[in-house]
Amino acid sequence: MTARTRRHVAVVGAGPAGLAAAAAALRAGARVTLVDAAERPGGQYHRMLPEQYRAARPERLHHGWAAFDRLRRHVLGHPRCAWWAESSVWSLERPGPGDETAPRVHVVRGPADGAGRERLVLDPDALVLAPGAHDRVLPFPGWDLPGVFTAGAAQALAKGERVVIGDRVVVAGAGPFLLPVAASLLEAGSTVLEVLEANPAATVLRGWGRRPWELASQAGKAGELAEYTALLARHRVPYRTGRAVIEARGDGRVEEVVTARLRADWSVVSGTERIVAVDAVCVGHGFTPQLELPLAAGCALREGFVQVDGDQRTTAPAVLAAGEITGIAGAPAARVEGLVAGWAAGGGDAAAPEARAARRRRDRARAFAARLAAAHPIGDGWPGWLRPETVVCRCEETTYGALCRAADAPASAAARAVKLGTRAGLGPCQARICGPSVAELLARRSPPPDLAAGGHRPATPHHRPVAQPIRLGELARPPKENL
Ligand SMILES: Cc1cc2nc3c(=O)[nH]c(=O)nc-3n(C[C@H](O)[C@H](O)[C@H](O)COP(=O)(O)OP(=O)(O)OC[C@H]3O[C@@H](n4cnc5c(N)ncnc54)[C@H](O)[C@@H]3O)c2cc1C
Repeated sequence: MTARTRRHVAVVGAGPAGLAAAAAALRAGARVTLVDAAERPGGQYHRMLPEQYRAARPERLHHGWAAFDRLRRHVLGHPRCAWWAESSVWSLERPGPGDETAPRVHVVRGPADGAGRERLVLDPDALVLAPGAHDRVLPFPGWDLPGVFTAGAAQALAKGERVVIGDRVVVAGAGPFLLPVAASLLEAGSTVLEVLEANPAATVLRGWGRRPWELASQAGKAGELAEYTALLARHRVPYRTGRAVIEARGDGRVEEVVTARLRADWSVVSGTERIVAVDAVCVGHGFTPQLELPLAAGCALREGFVQVDGDQRTTAPAVLAAGEITGIAGAPAARVEGLVAGWAAGGGDAAAPEARAARRRRDRARAFAARLAAAHPIGDGWPGWLRPETVVCRCEETTYGALCRAADAPASAAARAVKLGTRAGLGPCQARICGPSVAELLARRSPPPDLAAGGHRPATPHHRPVAQPIRLGELARPPKENL
C-alpha cells in the first residue's frame, strides 16, 4: 500500500491529546497530518521553550517530560506523519446533508504575525479534534488593571518563556491548577504570598473524598499534588480555602488586592476583608473548552462539552474528539482519550486488547473529571463581587451596569440585542474571555425561554465561524488543495 492510498487522519492540536491521537492512528496504519498553531508540539501542559533559548534543562517545571520527549520524537519523525507547525485551522467546511465524509479542513500556515502565510486545504478520511481549553477568569473590580494575570497566562510565561509576572504575587481562584501555577512562580523566583481556593474546605474534601479508591488509578496526579504541596510548605506559602480575591486596586497597575472569606455559594462574608500589598495577582476559575471547531463540524454538546461515544466519536460523521473539549480532566486523561480517538480514526480494531485497555483507562480518567468538577465548582454568588462600574468585557470595556441596563430594558433584552447594544464580546478576543461570564449574568436576569411557545435557547458563546484570525489578503488567495 502506498502512503497516498492509506487512510488519512488529520489531527488538530498537538497537546497531550492530539499527540497521543497521532501516535495511535500511526500505529493503526494510517497516514497522519498533525496540525498545531504553535511552533512546537506539547500543547499547554508541555509548553516547550523556544529553540533559541538552547535550554540546558528544558524539563524544568515539567512532569513526565521524558515520556513526552520520546512520544514527540516518535510521532514527528514517523515517515507517515506530516507535522504542520504554526498552522491554524481557521474553518471547517461541513459536507452536504447525508454525506458521511469528514469536513474539509481549512488551514493557514506560517508565523501568526508574519506576511506571506499560505492557505492549505485538507480532505482527510477522519478528523480528530484536540484543540484544548483556555483558562476561565471571572470578573471582579480591578481585574482589568495591568498586573492582573490569568493563571494560565502566568503559567505559560513561566513554563514557555521563564518569565515571572511579579515579585510579590497572590494566586487565587478555584481548582487544583492553582498549585502548579504557584509552584512554577516559586521555582522561577517570585514570592507567592498565599494561594486562595474560593471553595470552602468542606466542598473540596467532599468532592475528592468520596469513594477514594476510584482515584487509585490517578497515582501520577497524586504524586504531582504531593510535590506541589511540599514545595508550598518549604516556601511557607499558606493555602487557604473559602477565600478569594474580590478586588484589585492600584494607580495605573495593581498595587494591592482585597481578599475576603466566602460562603459555600461564594457570597462574601462581610467584615472578613483583608488588604494585601502585591505587584501581581494571578487568578483562574477553571477552564473553558475551545468549541469553535467542534461546533463548526456540527458536533453535539453535552453539558457544555463535546459529546462522544465509547470510541471518542462525536455526533458528526468521521469527526472524533479528545482532551479538554470533552471534559476538563487534566493531561493524563487527555492523553488516553487521544489514544482511543486516534486508534478509532486510523481504522484500528476496536476489539484489540490495547484498544480495550485504553478505553478502560479513559473511563477511570473520566471519573477523575467528575471529582474535579464536584470539588471545585463555581459558586453562584460571584456576581455579588461586581459593582455597576466593574468592567465585564475587557476588550470593549463594557461594564456590569451597562449589561444590566440592556438586559432589563424590554426592547434590548434578547442576548443578541444586548451584545450589539453594549458590544460585550465583540472585541478582539471575540468573547473567549468574557463570553461565559456574560452569558451567565444575562441568564440570571432573564426568565428561561419558553421553548413550547417558540422561544429559542440562547446561542452558545463559542459559536465563531472563523475560528482563528485570517487576513483578507490571505482569504483572497486560492488555497493548495487535497494535501
Ligand atoms: C494556559 C494554560 C496552561 C496550562 N498549564 C498546565 C500545567 O502547567 N499543568 C497542568 O496540569 N495543566 C495545565 N493546563 C491544563 C492543560 O491544558 C490540560 O490538562 C492538557 O494540556 C490538555 O491537553 P489537550 O491536548 O486537550 O489540550 P492542549 O494541551 O491545550 O493542546 C491543544 C493544542 O491545540 C492547538 N490548537 C488549538 N486550536 C487550534 C486551531 N484552531 N488550529 C491549530 N491548532 C490549534 C493549541 O495550539 C494547542 O497546542 C493548562 C491550561 C492552559 C489553558
